[in-house]
Amino acid sequence: MEIAFGPIPSRRLGASLGVNNIPPKHCTYNCTYCQVGRGTSLEITRRSFYPPDMIFESVRRRLELVESRGEKVDHITFVPDGEPTLDINLGREIEMIRSLGVSVAVITNSSLLWDSSVRDDLSAADYVSFKVDAVTERIWRIVDRPSHELSLGSILEGASKFADGFNGHLASETMLVARVEYGDEAGNIASFLSRIRGLRDAYIAVPTRPPAEPWAGPPDRGVVVYFLTRFREILGARAQPLDFPEHGQFGHTGDARSDIVSAALVHPLSEGAVAQILKDDGAGEDVLHAMLESGELDEVEFSGRKYYVAGRNSRGR
Ligand code: SF4
Repeated sequence: MEIAFGPIPSRRLGASLGVNNIPPKHCTYNCTYCQVGRGTSLEITRRSFYPPDMIFESVRRRLELVESRGEKVDHITFVPDGEPTLDINLGREIEMIRSLGVSVAVITNSSLLWDSSVRDDLSAADYVSFKVDAVTERIWRIVDRPSHELSLGSILEGASKFADGFNGHLASETMLVARVEYGDEAGNIASFLSRIRGLRDAYIAVPTRPPAEPWAGPPDRGVVVYFLTRFREILGARAQPLDFPEHGQFGHTGDARSDIVSAALVHPLSEGAVAQILKDDGAGEDVLHAMLESGELDEVEFSGRKYYVAGRNSRGR
């Protein structure tokens, strides 16, 4: 499997060349809505997964290829199959990749922000998005299913400390799922975020791709509207919904199978997205059928739409 993939059209970051710096599903959380699937074991100890040189080379080659095709990359984004801050070399990798002249973004679940080494590593990035799905223990445990070694209070305190020392673009993301009794968690989260120094955007998201637990799909529209209203009351225009469709071009290398698998490993693909990659790579529907047959790709239904996710035989490609 290639470490660098895309670019993938990102809802926040434009054309985002992804960096998959963590092997599948090494995470501190086992979120009910995770698009990578259900977690088996949780871990919170930082360690090395891939040599930083290997990550840098993969990104450099991919960027060169994309730019040689006249395509642009807006961000190089650490958005792996697990939690990117588990990678103990993250800070060094960010520094190396920034030398390529493109802004570096990291999408973190925030769970290790209590650790000063994680805060130091993230401070090297240009853009950091941190997850705040809940500030109430009960809801945090239901939605994010954290490792039992983690403490919500320490995480929230770590997020504040990180913001105090960060000079880049800071955004939060709050994912809402169905069947959760939220009470006024909207007000609680927004109040917490209002005390975060330099917060530029507070996104409210709903699952737009198949979740790990079938019941953890999008909540009723009323819940989303209520959250948005409360967020707007407290945070003003920084509160924004993130549940609109993606746009733009997927990256392509001429090898449709590889492009589809790389993207599907971290990002379930809609029918339209797969059709676009096939077209860009000059491949036909027969490639898609062969991938489904070989187990590189699986077809799933979600909210009445068809998606393609990485299949049992795609890992380790
Ligand atoms: S959604 Fe992100 S934080 Fe949650 S389990 Fe999946 S990879 Fe981990």
